[in-house]
Amino acid sequence: MLIKKTFKFCLRPNKKQREKFAQFAGACRWVYNRGLAQRTDLWQKEQKRISLFDQNNQLVALKRQEETTWLKDVHSQVLQQALDDLDKAMQAFFRRVKRKETPGYPRFRCKGNGDSFRYPQGVTIGKGIVRLPKIGAVRFRQSRDIEGNLKQTVVVKEGDKWYVCFSCEIEQTITSKVTGDTAGIDVGIENFATIANKHSISEVKSPSFLKKGLSHLRHLSRKLSKKTFKSSNWKKAKAKLNTWHAKIRHQRQDFLHKLSTTLVKNHDVIAVESLQIRELLMTAPKTLARAITDAGWRQFLQMLQYKCDYQGKSLVKAGKFFPSSQLCSCCGRKTRMELRIRTYSCECGFQIHRDHNAALNLRAAGMSVRKACGAVL
Ligand SMILES: [Zn+2]
Repeated sequence: MLIKKTFKFCLRPNKKQREKFAQFAGACRWVYNRGLAQRTDLWQKEQKRISLFDQNNQLVALKRQEETTWLKDVHSQVLQQALDDLDKAMQAFFRRVKRKETPGYPRFRCKGNGDSFRYPQGVTIGKGIVRLPKIGAVRFRQSRDIEGNLKQTVVVKEGDKWYVCFSCEIEQTITSKVTGDTAGIDVGIENFATIANKHSISEVKSPSFLKKGLSHLRHLSRKLSKKTFKSSNWKKAKAKLNTWHAKIRHQRQDFLHKLSTTLVKNHDVIAVESLQIRELLMTAPKTLARAITDAGWRQFLQMLQYKCDYQGKSLVKAGKFFPSSQLCSCCGRKTRMELRIRTYSCECGFQIHRDHNAALNLRAAGMSVRKACGAVL
């Protein structure tokens, strides 16, 4: 099976290379914003659309014009990729309009917010060194081996650091062993996850990195708000804030990766609730919404999905209407439960922690799918 994998490393550019990075990212932003303005204008005035092909051709003309000759210093494919991003953003916008969802028209990019640029080809990788066209050889902290065929390379700024992401295609052979175990996972606020398998029911505490880091985050953003907008002190404060955000994000990802890897390794089938996370986010009050995004459920489910795919295991998503918290995991009776009641008690005399009960029910759902599929799993 051919799979995609991204390898991300911290770059160690010198001063000149940092300047080049900023210049490349700046040019991409300029090209993107110009393209967006052009598309908007053309539509508002003449109800016409311009194609990616035509916008790409305009780049050539722009490089000849005196006031925009500086575009020549930037690798041409990198600029084309920015227009490609714009085209994809527009397509996604029209798709949402068609489906009658909240359309969300593409926004202008602003400096210091996801500065990045992308090479579709031409990048070569040595040991701890990456050769980027029109920039040169840049050192990076190679913490692991890079496998597969390089498909594209992204250079991105997070906080005050630059990172390189190599997207590769790998021919994956399944190496994991059959374990004969099924896991049911209930995700919640109280505990990040409650996991039921054949050995036990275990709880994984919410790490709440954001909660812990929140007071410092507030402190930093208060400092930022007192500086004059776009002054050099404002920029310094902004960089500090971004760095703190990036730190929390990395901690969270690390936690989610470790947990999902262990789960996939030790079970053949994993059953979860298919959460309508987007709905939850919209209806939940602010603090709860923060807790939800903090816990990173969405990311967690995505990781479980692709890791199961890689390892030839199954992720069973119980439907939206599967009453995992209302069924009795002992006798199967259904009892309505309010969210605030934390202990499940059934007429049959069975009593259990609410989340444990849900995890057991999900595990049972996973087992029945496993049985139904028989030898396939
Ligand atoms: Zn019961």
